[in-house]
Amino acid sequence: MVIRQVLLVGNPLLREKSETVTDFGPGLQPTLEDLRNTLTNHQNITGSGRGIAAPQIGYLKRVVRIQAPDFTSFLVNPEIVEKSDELFDVWDSCFSLKGAVFVNIKRHRKIRVDYQDENGEKHSREFADGMSELLQHELDHLDGVLCTDLLTDNKGIAMREEWMKRFRTPGIGM
Ligand SMILES: [Zn+2]
Repeated sequence: MVIRQVLLVGNPLLREKSETVTDFGPGLQPTLEDLRNTLTNHQNITGSGRGIAAPQIGYLKRVVRIQAPDFTSFLVNPEIVEKSDELFDVWDSCFSLKGAVFVNIKRHRKIRVDYQDENGEKHSREFADGMSELLQHELDHLDGVLCTDLLTDNKGIAMREEWMKRFRTPGIGM
């Protein structure tokens, strides 16, 4: 089982735009397996983390892996096709920030995402609240966008220790 190193902010690969997946054959397998194993390993070690995007482990392909309590899937070539006007506040962080820095940003309350699964089958699914912000975060990675880019208020940034003391709301993990 291969656990890949998660690239950290500063690594230029995290700023690249990932490529659309057109080949659903064996060539895609290492990306899928490494994403699943790396996320599972991170969850086992830290007890947190619900998603990871392929560029975070150095594959510039439009693939995201989600492992959340009510939804576990690969999303290949995901695209946000609808988003609510309503925004909400989120304290966000990232594996690529080692979960050490948190930023207070706005995300759309609801989104609809069209995507393919690992076999190329098409799906469309609506996400709300915590899942909506998670998907927006992971999909941004495919375009080289990091959560820190969305910071608009200079009071909306905190190191983990300060965030735990001041801002943490029960139930909100990474
Ligand atoms: Zn991230």
